[in-house]
Parts: sequence; C-alpha cells; structure tokens
Amino acid sequence: MIIFECPTCRKVLRVENRDQAPYRPFCSDRCRLIDLGKWLDGQYTIPRPATADDLAACDPASMLPNPDDDHARGPDHPDVDGG
Ligand SMILES: [Zn+2]
Repeated sequence: MIIFECPTCRKVLRVENRDQAPYRPFCSDRCRLIDLGKWLDGQYTIPRPATADDLAACDPASMLPNPDDDHARGPDHPDVDGG
C-alpha cells in the first residue's frame, strides 16, 4: 500500500503498488502538467535575484581543473603499478 498526496490538488491517494500511480507524486497526468505549468509560468522562482557573488561562483573558468594540480593525480603520473 502506497499513500501519497498530490501536490497540485492535495488529494490523498492510496494505491496497492507503484504501477497504479504512474503519475506519482501527482494523482493524474493533468495535475502533473499543471505543476509543470507553474514552473514555466515562473511561479516557482529563486526568491532573490542573482548577485555578483553568485555569478562569480558560476564562473566557468573557475570550474576548470587547475593545471598546477595535475602533478598530483594526472593521468601521466609515472608511479603506475604496471606489474
Ligand atoms: Zn491531483
């Protein structure tokens, strides 16, 4: 027995197994699409605008591996136990 509440219409559903709730956690495809529509409408958004710090944290250059670190764990590390 699986009991869950549809986040769109708040209806509580009880099913014997997950095969009977293909749209879980939604009660139906309709409720699933309504929830998706909320996202697309922008009703669910980040509650504050991005700041300069956020942008800095997302700087692609800062996400690249530092070449200076490669000597510690690079693929061409000479210490290979090749037998
Ligand atoms: Zn529903």
